[in-house]
Parts: sequence; structure tokens; C-alpha cells
Amino acid sequence: MPKSAAKPRRTAKSAAHEARVEQMFELLADSRPEPKTELDYINPFALVVAVALSAQATDVGVNKATKALFKAADTPEKMVALGEDKIRDFIKTIGLYRNKAKNVLALSQKLIAEYGGEVPRSREALESLPGVGRKTANVVLNEAFGEHTIAVDTHVFRVSNRTGIAPGKNPLQVELGLERVVPERFKHGAHHWLILHGRYVCVAQKPRCYACVIADLCPFEPKTPPPGEGKPAKAAGKTGKPVAPKKPAAKTKPAKKKPA
Ligand code: SF4
Repeated sequence: MPKSAAKPRRTAKSAAHEARVEQMFELLADSRPEPKTELDYINPFALVVAVALSAQATDVGVNKATKALFKAADTPEKMVALGEDKIRDFIKTIGLYRNKAKNVLALSQKLIAEYGGEVPRSREALESLPGVGRKTANVVLNEAFGEHTIAVDTHVFRVSNRTGIAPGKNPLQVELGLERVVPERFKHGAHHWLILHGRYVCVAQKPRCYACVIADLCPFEPKTPPPGEGKPAKAAGKTGKPVAPKKPAAKTKPAKKKPA
């Protein structure tokens, strides 16, 4: 009989970490009871397109462009009929739009040719679509099909590392770490909670630790104080202008001892 892979031993340290992560998600879930993606979409196909367009772009920017795009084409067939030039016109406000227009057309063609115009419910099939990587596949599996996948974008990556929930050097390491440590009941919402936390609270520059519901459990230091309550920078005066360093005090000769 083949030997089964040995499970990692659950130490007291890992049990304490799991308990801390569970508490963090309880607090994050309380603060945002119904987290959902901020990308607008009307069906699974539109979700695939929206997520593929969101690489290196904001959700707000993508929503502005897709509002008209999805009115014109909300199925792979209509997208193919629209053609690359028109797709490009609809999305030209989004970064990398030329390449993205090519991908939207190509993924629509592939959906028609290989999947009967339907979005497949499999990671492998999704990742075979042009412009769709692991992150997009995870978002689609989670949002459109209710699976417990955790997509790691820049926010999830940063928050997972800062909080120590699932440290990792690259998105895949973080994703696998999250899968191991996030309690099952929080898995479906996990990437939403982490994205929204990273977007609005644990931002890249100056995280808003003073407004953070998990601050007491987060090991990140130094915590950002509330605005106006921070200590002034060492070399700045009241105006914020650098202060010239003080001159060293003049050396004084030691007083001569009086003879007794
Ligand atoms: S305490 Fe600060 S660093 Fe830690 S999760 Fe909250 S905002 Fe981020």
C-alpha cells in the first residue's frame, strides 16, 4: 500500500496562530457582514471579462468602461460580433487596453469553440483562456460558482504578510498559506475581507492602524497613530521644516580645586 503523505504536525504554536487568525476573521466579518466584489458584472462571462480587465487597473475604472461594453456585448457571441476594434474603443480608458482587447476577443472565441459559450467551472479550463491567470480563475470560481477559493491580489498579499496571517514571498505561497490557516466557515469571504481591508484600512502607505478592527491581534509595528497624534519627525520643527542641528556646547575648563 502506498504511504500516505504525512500531515504537518499541529504544534502549540500553530494552534495559537490558527486561533489568532480565526479571531481576526471574526472581527473582519463583523465589520463587513456581506463582503462582495466591487467589480460590476451581470453574468459569469461578464465577470471573467471584468476581472481580466482589472489587472493593473482600479475597479472603479473598469466599471466605468464595462458599463457600456456589457450593454453592447454580454455574451461571448456578441463580444465576437463586436470585434477587436470596437472592444478596444470601449476599454481604452483602462491600462494595457490594446492587449486586453485582444484577450477579451480571444477568450470569447475560445468559450464558443470549446465550452459551448459557457464559462467553465474548472480552474484548469479557466486558466487556459487568454488573459486569465490563477488570480482571475480564483475570483470567478469564488464569485460565480460559490467555491472556497482565495484569490491573492496586491492587497491580499500585503495584508497577509503584514498581519502574519499567511506570510509568503509570492502570491502562490500566500494563497496556499491562507488555504491552510483560514477556518472553513470564513473561506468563501476571505479574499473579499482581505481585499477590502487592504484597500481601505491596511493601505500600502501609512496603514490606518488607528481605525483597524484587528490592530490588537496584528504584530505589525510601528502602528500608525491617529492623524495629528503622531510624534513629530525627529529632524522637523513645528512648521515641518528641518531644524538645524544644535551646536555642541563650548568646552569649559574644569574648575581648579581650591587648596584645602
Ligand atoms: S494594525 Fe495596521 S498593519 Fe496591522 S492590519 Fe491593521 S492597519 Fe494593517
